[in-house]
Amino acid sequence: MAGGTGRMRRKGDLPSKTCAACGLPFAWRKKWARDWEQVKYCSDRCRGAKAA
Ligand SMILES: [Zn+2]
Repeated sequence: MAGGTGRMRRKGDLPSKTCAACGLPFAWRKKWARDWEQVKYCSDRCRGAKAA
């Protein structure tokens, strides 16, 4: 493809991150729409999990 600027974002291609607790990748969720940049964990469970 020519003339593209940066990465193409396809429909349904949601951003994703890696969970800081379990290390698994997780995708953007609607409930994180307001503070996605601050989300570090894939779930409440991981958020509550501290170094065991
Ligand atoms: Zn996790």
